[in-house]
Amino acid sequence: MNAVNPLLQPVSAVKGVGPESAEVLGSMGILTVMDLIEYLPYRYEDYRLKDLADVQHDERVTVEGKVHSEPSLAFFSKKKSRLTVRILVGNYLISAVFFNQPYYKKKLELGSVVTVTGKWDKHRQTITANQIVFGPHAKEHEIEPVYSVKENITVKTMRKLINHALTQYGPEIRNVIPEQLMEAYRLPAKKEAILTMHHPLKHEDLKHARRYFVYEEFLLFQLKMQALRKFQREQSKGVSHEIHRERLEEFIGSLPFPLTNAQERVIGEILTDMKSAYRMNRLLQGDVGSGKTVVAAIAMYAAYLSGYQAALMVPTEILAEQHAESLTAIFAGFPVTAALLTSSVKGKKRRELLARVESGEIQFLVGTHALIQEDVHFSKLGLVITDEQHRFGVGQRKVLREKGENPDVLFMTATPIPRTLAITAFGEMDVSVIDELPAGRKKIETYWVKHEMLDRILKFIDKELMEGRQAYVICPLIEESDKLDVQNAIDVHSTLVHYYGDRWKLGLMHGRLSSAEKDEVMREFSENAVQILVSTTVVEVGVNVPNATVMVIYDAERFGLSQLHQLRGRVGRGSAQSYCILLADPKSETGKERMRVMTETADGFELSEKDLELRGPGDFFGRKQSGMPEFKVADMVHDYRALETARNDAAKLVQSEAFWKSDDYRELRDYVYASGIISGGKLD
Ligand code: ADP
Ligand code: MG
Repeated sequence: MNAVNPLLQPVSAVKGVGPESAEVLGSMGILTVMDLIEYLPYRYEDYRLKDLADVQHDERVTVEGKVHSEPSLAFFSKKKSRLTVRILVGNYLISAVFFNQPYYKKKLELGSVVTVTGKWDKHRQTITANQIVFGPHAKEHEIEPVYSVKENITVKTMRKLINHALTQYGPEIRNVIPEQLMEAYRLPAKKEAILTMHHPLKHEDLKHARRYFVYEEFLLFQLKMQALRKFQREQSKGVSHEIHRERLEEFIGSLPFPLTNAQERVIGEILTDMKSAYRMNRLLQGDVGSGKTVVAAIAMYAAYLSGYQAALMVPTEILAEQHAESLTAIFAGFPVTAALLTSSVKGKKRRELLARVESGEIQFLVGTHALIQEDVHFSKLGLVITDEQHRFGVGQRKVLREKGENPDVLFMTATPIPRTLAITAFGEMDVSVIDELPAGRKKIETYWVKHEMLDRILKFIDKELMEGRQAYVICPLIEESDKLDVQNAIDVHSTLVHYYGDRWKLGLMHGRLSSAEKDEVMREFSENAVQILVSTTVVEVGVNVPNATVMVIYDAERFGLSQLHQLRGRVGRGSAQSYCILLADPKSETGKERMRVMTETADGFELSEKDLELRGPGDFFGRKQSGMPEFKVADMVHDYRALETARNDAAKLVQSEAFWKSDDYRELRDYVYASGIISGGKLD
């Protein structure tokens, strides 16, 4: 029963793989027979015959014809030569040119049939050949796989080795995907799919074969994630909060507005998690302004009522201050103490604060990642919330979970993450979504204008400011160069100072300022001592100045849609009509498309899906911390339906007893264990 799977033998078991090739293959990640068999081509050469009338200039083509003239050979040097021959292809008399292949001259006999592949020069009616078969076109080699290769393993060698492997071991290939799923999705058998991928008879066959691999890859990946999720729940005993409904209702009733349905729903999900004995590991997504802070406050109050402390972590000091302020306001009249801890709290003040946290006198602690530094000890930490979570790395996520006695963890993000990415990057988490904005919000009017209209924009800002409003001006983004971004901000600032004279006061904000300086600028802006804030993207996240109604973004085409949406979310926070003006002269069609989408769509989720489509998953989170898994065949964007399906199937599988016990699932189970994601029943 436990017969060794012959496909798991070392790759050297394949005929033709000697020690030397085995080493090179090994360095390419091909260690077993299976690895070699599953080493799929990244593209195909197409040697199908075409009618020359349909072939474009410079296109690669294969033709079959008869040698129609004696070849003529010219040498330019000892090694460099050109061989020209006339070939009759159907009704066309064309020329074929071979460089540096003088020995073909003898083989090109008058009247013989040859098959030539090369680049077609339509004007000269000539093929510059790089391949010739002395004989008729061979149908079975019409589409040839091309593999990425290395050192002494050429594409030809790779083809040969894979063919050997398929001949020797092909019959051993088994489906990895369980039978009932194979049937449900009408997937081709893995054996068939592999043969087709290596040797397709027609291009159309690839599509069907590919479906097998896409689903297998997604299913295996999601099985790991869902297994991890299951174990996190079952093995990590968390805090079992006691939920005091009535006192919570009393607090919710004290808010100046009724909760939206979406807020009520996610609060229900969060409280259920907090009450249960497993540790909450939940991602809360909600568009800018959807009211996440209130949800966080309610969860924190629930933790307090059950006798625990709560921590709220945000990525910047300004945000930390704003959150501390809004929490203090929300909890005015309730017997809780919220405090702010940032890196600018130093020395004695810091020590005192830490002592009050450790004694439990402070119930709610708000701060930047300074919060997860080692000298911060809580008396009884029961809930950790992080806002704008995608800015924290995976490592920080982990440290956070390990603080205190397995506190419940809630990650909040205002960057609507496309579902596809959420279930990939955060596949091991539960996801709650606030998909509704509070009633009565005015839509932010968004315009896309060319830079030459700047003058009119500046006049428009003037008009709004006369009404008592304020404006943000975001400066050009220069990728990867904080220094140039800062210079841009300085330039724009001085241009505007010159333009407005002393009619309005302008502030300047960028990443090179110390946090004290940033705070000062921000405070002046929020107190309306400054009317126009010129800034780099540092204001992107969460800042709240409800009196600001104009957002002008220079070179908007350089920003991603999600980022533009975040920036736009800085206005429209009060009751007045707000405006977002995108200054952009995009050259490319996608650039123009992005600007159009921005003016037409206010829905952050829709934008993020579009963003993912236009930029691809790697870029979505930014290069630095993408942490996205790489799929060999599958594509998260285009195959997202398969990804969702695989996620649901994987979740069902890991919940079933059969998956963990039955022999039918042994291979899949071994795969999950081998991934090391669950080691000895413990978490990574
Ligand atoms: P987010 O953090 O999701 O961007 P906030 O929590 O900052 O959003 O909320 C944005 C604004 O909406 C705040 O001024 C908040 O007081 C207000 N708000 C939140 N929930 C509601 C609601 N249910 N009805 C009306 N206003 C609300
Ligand atoms: Mg917020």
